[in-house]
Amino acid sequence: MKVLLVEDDENIVETISMALRMRWPEAKLVATHLGERGVELAGDEVPDVVVLDLGLPDLNGFEVLKRIRSFSSVPIIILTVKSEEADIVKGLEWGADDYMVKPFRQLELLARLKTLTRRQSPPGSVAPLACGPLRFDPATRELLYSNKEVSITATEGHILQHLMRNAGHVVTHASLAEAVWGEVYDGAINSLRVHIRRLREKLEQNPNRPVLIRTKAGVGYFLAVPDQR
Ligand code: CA
Repeated sequence: MKVLLVEDDENIVETISMALRMRWPEAKLVATHLGERGVELAGDEVPDVVVLDLGLPDLNGFEVLKRIRSFSSVPIIILTVKSEEADIVKGLEWGADDYMVKPFRQLELLARLKTLTRRQSPPGSVAPLACGPLRFDPATRELLYSNKEVSITATEGHILQHLMRNAGHVVTHASLAEAVWGEVYDGAINSLRVHIRRLREKLEQNPNRPVLIRTKAGVGYFLAVPDQR
């Protein structure tokens, strides 16, 4: 397991390095404070996951993201000090799989890294899921909506999988966060909201008035089965 960290804040590099040594010793850390170098290492080192700071001394983190995505589908988690949703949404649009707002808890980052590097089950071992117009194969992350292929991130796949398994029933924020990241953290509800919004933009005709992925205010979300729509 190899983690590539592109981050110019030495304290954060040290924190993540220590967290990995203590809690995930089989993960090897490769770190750089430069975006250019980060792009090279993403190619040369073939990491299993990339942690990418958006504010770097040489290149804008979005540019680094775009360049890595031009040749690699490695899971990428962006780190940002700005909690503005616009930034996060742009990162996810440009191909990041998840994000964390600094300051973050070590355990939270580790949980997210583990989610993104979780081995996909071998094809055939998990039955594909179906609900109304949706067909989703968790093993290959292939999603069909009315027979059209929709590209989703690893995190969106975990969310959708949990919603589909519980189709027609409300899934609480806590149970969804646990299904996706293994634990429930401060900020998990906000993260879910952002990922759900991205999913709606991909699946709903009008993301502001969703008919498929519905909100149960104050409780969680549910996937409407056809007769609920
Ligand atoms: Ca920075």
